[in-house]
Amino acid sequence: MKRIQVAVVGAGISGLVCAYELQKMGYEVTVYEKEPYVGGRMSTRRRDGLTFDIGANLIERKYSLIDHYCTEMRVPIKDMSLGIHRLLKHSKYYRLNLSMLRLAGTRLLSWKEKIRMFGLMLRVRFTHPTLSLYNLYHANPSLDSESAYAYLKRSIGKRFVDYVADPVIAAYHFHSSKESSKAFFYSILTTYDQRSLSLKYVTGGMGSLPEAISRRVSVKNGASVKKVWREGRTVYVESGGKRAYDVVVIATTADVARRVIIKKSRNQNAFLDKVKYATTVYVSFKVPEDALGGVYLSYLPKMESPIICEYSNESRKGSYSYKGHSLINVGLHEDFAKTLIKKSNGLIFKLVKSELLRVCPELVGVKAEVVPFDLVRWERAVPKFYPGYVRAMQHFWTNGQGDNSIYLVGDYLNSTGVESAARCGKRVAEMILGEYI
Ligand SMILES: Cc1cc2nc3c(=O)[nH]c(=O)nc-3n(C[C@H](O)[C@H](O)[C@H](O)COP(=O)(O)OP(=O)(O)OC[C@H]3O[C@@H](n4cnc5c(N)ncnc54)[C@H](O)[C@@H]3O)c2cc1C
Repeated sequence: MKRIQVAVVGAGISGLVCAYELQKMGYEVTVYEKEPYVGGRMSTRRRDGLTFDIGANLIERKYSLIDHYCTEMRVPIKDMSLGIHRLLKHSKYYRLNLSMLRLAGTRLLSWKEKIRMFGLMLRVRFTHPTLSLYNLYHANPSLDSESAYAYLKRSIGKRFVDYVADPVIAAYHFHSSKESSKAFFYSILTTYDQRSLSLKYVTGGMGSLPEAISRRVSVKNGASVKKVWREGRTVYVESGGKRAYDVVVIATTADVARRVIIKKSRNQNAFLDKVKYATTVYVSFKVPEDALGGVYLSYLPKMESPIICEYSNESRKGSYSYKGHSLINVGLHEDFAKTLIKKSNGLIFKLVKSELLRVCPELVGVKAEVVPFDLVRWERAVPKFYPGYVRAMQHFWTNGQGDNSIYLVGDYLNSTGVESAARCGKRVAEMILGEYI
């Protein structure tokens, strides 16, 4: 019997998981990847003994599917002792205890704000027990009509928005609570528990996982797909020649899916038009390994720095240091990143270094040793889950997936982050199994 032939466009984590699962089920799968490497926004550059995760750089304890694939692929992940998380307010750093119980002690918030915040935590836990950042496509649509900003300002206060919600959303998602729905913010809260947010990292770099999966499926690197279209019962992929498939999975960002699918269905058109992304530039500096001591992540509200939203001390990931040096990776606030995205590397390094020295007191004494290492321009860094988006996503899953034998996968169909992207890839593989056996 002829095996079902599937093309997957894009070797990011969502595409690779989808391809791997389909191949395990007996389908004949080819992955097209435009870059010479795999992983997309979960890739690692290794140079001079140092490890630079160019996109995703952390995994979280509750990333069960990523954990599962790391075990299956024998890619070791390590617990990261959290290190100090701190937030800048009025030019002074406050320690952020990510454990909800310890957060009670913070001097960042008034008692009234803390009581309201704990009320909110309990509400999320007890009224939405199944809500999850990693399955946002199942969120209750009733949470999707208001922005996190409007809701939090009303229920806790503007200071909480400015000094907790916005800095956290910006540090991990590069945009603001104004462009996030209440559903998205609630789902972020579900990643915290009474103990703590506990973080992990992939040894050898985050890219080690997609690299390992790619060794088990057939990937064509350097193969940019230009067009995908259906004629009769066949779907064609054009990438330096035309090839026929039974099913095609597009695992790129939404703008590429919009561009390559010829004659989109009404549902594909309507949904792809709704996807918006946050922009950032991710900039890395080589520094003495012990420059930041126990500090891991620093959060910078926009009022404190209109340029930098976060910087992380990569030496906290033991294996990321080399010969007494490590990296500090810096994420930029979206508005500033947009003004810089077309500028030269030299100018970006210069502006970001000068701001980093202003906001990071530990680096002032070693400023000659803060050396530009690498940078990546992410015009489409992470999707924005703005009010109304969850509903649009749910409508697409029910009515548009598989139109013209073309499926879409990626973080923008579930939620930001590698766990959500991987879950989306697996879910689509299961849908295809249900349709094409
Ligand atoms: C700076 C930054 C930091 C982040 N930090 C974290 C973090 O700490 N933890 C976390 O969980 N998540 C993090 N994320 C988010 C996470 O990286 C993404 O949610 C996830 O990697 C998305 O995977 P994906 O498969 O959906 O898409 P992608 O990784 O974007 O994969 C799409 C693939 O398609 C390929 N492609 C595009 N066009 C074509 C074409 N025409 N033909 C063939 N191939 C094509 C691309 O090259 C790419 O490989 C971060 C993202 C960024 C940008």
